[in-house]
Amino acid sequence: MKLTKQDLLERADRVYDAIVVGGGAGGLSAGIYLQRYLVSSLIIDKGKARSFWMQELHNYLGLPPDTPGRSLLRQGREHYLSLSGDMLDGFVEEIVDKGETFAVTVKIGRQDSIEQTFHARYLIAASGIIDYLPNLDSMRNVYDYAGYNLHVCLICDGYEMADKKVGVFASTASNAEVLFPLGWFTPHITLFTQGLFEIGDGLRQKLQEQGYQIVETPILQFLGEDHLMSGVELEDGRVIELEAGLISMGSKYHTEYLKTFNLEIQDGNLVTDKMARTSHPRIFAIGDLKVGLNQVVVAAADGALAATQIWRDLRRSQPRSHHSQLT
Ligand SMILES: Cc1cc2nc3c(=O)[nH]c(=O)nc-3n(C[C@H](O)[C@H](O)[C@H](O)COP(=O)(O)OP(=O)(O)OC[C@H]3O[C@@H](n4cnc5c(N)ncnc54)[C@H](O)[C@@H]3O)c2cc1C
Repeated sequence: MKLTKQDLLERADRVYDAIVVGGGAGGLSAGIYLQRYLVSSLIIDKGKARSFWMQELHNYLGLPPDTPGRSLLRQGREHYLSLSGDMLDGFVEEIVDKGETFAVTVKIGRQDSIEQTFHARYLIAASGIIDYLPNLDSMRNVYDYAGYNLHVCLICDGYEMADKKVGVFASTASNAEVLFPLGWFTPHITLFTQGLFEIGDGLRQKLQEQGYQIVETPILQFLGEDHLMSGVELEDGRVIELEAGLISMGSKYHTEYLKTFNLEIQDGNLVTDKMARTSHPRIFAIGDLKVGLNQVVVAAADGALAATQIWRDLRRSQPRSHHSQLT
């Protein structure tokens, strides 16, 4: 059920089999599998998932290619709740390993917020990442286009940019390297550094060899209407026309609550085995947080793997009668 502040006291003494941090594509998939294994679960989600910013999910088998991320989340929540899973809107602040269980402290509510601790045998970290965006005076101007034809994911939207005039907005030289795989889709590429980093001689020469343009002047604003970006105005007044954009400025990882565990990490991503288990035997990591491809289909599959492995672990360690939620 969807927990409200009134239900919290009653849940304080319960030990869930698994707590899932994050109710995006991965967390909801994990929750659905857990409940269907009769493994008790609580999903805690602070909202505004990356899937929420996805205006259209273009590449998911069986769904119309204009399915908004919001629909996927709404349907996923309904599905999970129909299986009697517990769901809470809240922000996971801290997790302490008590040996057999974890104590998960959650901040609930924006105004008059309260703190409550929940307990679980296993933890699934499904809290994802969020993309850094160009930092303009008017962020409203960025949000008007981000997720529409101002893309953040080459794997998701390379196809959308095929043969178009594309601006790449990067924050470091290594982020700018996304230009080269983008060149598979279109030859018409302009790199915007906004003066944030120097382009070394090697990279400059490679860009020039490919015929890509370089603009180092900061941008004042994106131009366009109805969420369709048609170019940028630079701080020196020049206007550069574009048909699409790709932001490559890195991401913030939602892993603060895992800091004390010293989990194995590779380039910011959590390392897991093939069943999504991290270097801690009772902590799983799924979706964009872990090493792999940042895609809805992968996050959903990771959720299935983590839930299945937790069910196997529980089945081996305890008889089923302890776990039936039907009784
Ligand atoms: C604009 C855009 C377009 C995209 N297009 C596509 C596409 O076409 N196809 C595709 O496959 N993928 C696409 N993606 C990628 C896709 O959205 C992600 O791969 C997917 O959402 C990852 O799922 P996740 O469950 O790992 O994370 P998310 O969906 O981001 O969910 C994580 C959740 O955890 C919550 N959370 C974080 N920290 C905490 C905390 N401390 N306590 C509680 N909750 C917390 C977050 O708020 C969020 O709700 C796109 C992404 C973006 C941004």
